[in-house]
Amino acid sequence: MTRTSSKITTPATAARGATRDFFAGLRGRIAGEIVTPDSERYDDARQVQIAQFDRRPSAVVRATSTADVAEAVRFAREQGIPLAVRSGGHSIAGLSMVDGGVTVDLSGMKRVEVDGATGRARVQAGATSGDVAGPAHEHGLAITTGDTSSVGMGGLVTGGGIGYMARKFGLTIDSLVSAQVVTADGKVRTASAAAHPDLFWAIRGGGGNFGIVTEFELQLAPVRDILGGAIVLPATREVIRGYLDYMPTAPDGLTTLVNVWPAPPAPFIPQEFVGTPCVMILPVWTGDFEEGQRAIAPLRALAEPIADTVAPMPYPAIYNYTQELTNRHGVALRSMFSDELSDAAIDAVVAAVSAPTSAVPLVHIRGQGGAIARVARDATAFAHRTQKYFVSVISVWMPEDGQGAAHEAWADALWRQLRPEGNGAYVNFLQNEEPARIRDAYPAETLRRLREIKTTYDPENMFRFNQNIQPLAGAATQAA
Ligand SMILES: Cc1cc2nc3c(=O)[nH]c(=O)nc-3n(C[C@H](O)[C@H](O)[C@H](O)COP(=O)(O)OP(=O)(O)OC[C@H]3O[C@@H](n4cnc5c(N)ncnc54)[C@H](O)[C@@H]3O)c2cc1C
Repeated sequence: MTRTSSKITTPATAARGATRDFFAGLRGRIAGEIVTPDSERYDDARQVQIAQFDRRPSAVVRATSTADVAEAVRFAREQGIPLAVRSGGHSIAGLSMVDGGVTVDLSGMKRVEVDGATGRARVQAGATSGDVAGPAHEHGLAITTGDTSSVGMGGLVTGGGIGYMARKFGLTIDSLVSAQVVTADGKVRTASAAAHPDLFWAIRGGGGNFGIVTEFELQLAPVRDILGGAIVLPATREVIRGYLDYMPTAPDGLTTLVNVWPAPPAPFIPQEFVGTPCVMILPVWTGDFEEGQRAIAPLRALAEPIADTVAPMPYPAIYNYTQELTNRHGVALRSMFSDELSDAAIDAVVAAVSAPTSAVPLVHIRGQGGAIARVARDATAFAHRTQKYFVSVISVWMPEDGQGAAHEAWADALWRQLRPEGNGAYVNFLQNEEPARIRDAYPAETLRRLREIKTTYDPENMFRFNQNIQPLAGAATQAA
């Protein structure tokens, strides 16, 4: 494979008419490795989860500590080079790598320390959802995080975190006690309700716009085993309508994730149903199991189940149901919140998953409500708390597929039919969509406050490889 050197020309060096080893100055300042294009490890270092993104940074800085992150931020600032952030690498917009710039990679910073006495965990931002679930479970504790074990905490938590126990415990950000943040000036700040409360508000839903979080302090909940598994039902209008009607009335202990999709070749799916459209409900019940069985019964009663594996299990075992998604894949994703889906929308969903272009076409429906909705709309930067459903059109394909445009078109076509019945957006489920979608993610008053805080902490928009919140024009108030 052809390698290029780490001597790069950036706007700063070009202005001086010089090209030089850009990273020599940084090497002595950090303990972590700086991977440049001339390294054997470069292609590994720049690889991300979503396969259609093939960006070539000038360097990937593999941070080992908060001090490394701060040095990398200061260096990028001094040199005027673009800066991106990678934790778990699952950005569905491919934003954790930047062509020609520096990616600060926190994936080596995975320490998870659980304090059984306080029920709190200190979690470095490079840890994944699975990295947290295991140690928490050993202490009889849990926290709601991503639905796939490999989703990184860095991006998940700063965006919100809609997880398997969200109706019981809220979003992941609702369990955030404090965070260590490296801001654009290279300073390390602790953000909490008491310290830099504006920053604390903004990093709970505002994404990576305000700095690089190196460590989260999270309040875990006492959870031993859960009732979980899969209930697989035929994909009919009646089943989907029944699900939509039931979830807003379900007890908070029950959180569900629904995939409407062709039944996958899982061991629990009878062979004759593989590939036929089904509704796969993944329920997670936390609490008394008899009560849980009563809460789940109305879902089981929606139709004769094709499969039903729901049983007591340790919380981390639910990740077995999404194991496939931990493999690198291409994805087209369009999403919205909704309070009502018409029969026509339901029929469109069933028709689309019956005529897929990709290996894994699906429509995700999550019944929201419960603890998510009990947090005030203005308490965090995640404001879409009261809608009944979160709906995503998703097409997943293998990296070698080569038909990404067809899969994007499939997702767009169904999205156009559903979008009039929804509103809002979740930053972590936005791809590279039209700029107006940032206003879907943040209602006007939320966006105004986010822009003010952005102006305080990042007036030059250094952190812009994200779903970007722009500082207010002309203002330049740096934080104390
Ligand atoms: C297979 C899959 C399943 C998913 N399931 C869920 C789910 O169940 N619930 C849910 O809510 N979301 C889910 N998501 C979306 C997920 O929350 C986002 O993709 C999130 O950004 C991933 O975080 P990451 O650290 O892995 O990503 P990265 O690609 O590393 O980062 C993405 C962006 O997050 C920001 N960021 C990352 N790390 C930091 C940091 N340390 N400090 C500040 N900003 C940072 C940056 O802006 C960066 O561009 C899923 C995504 C995938 C691909």
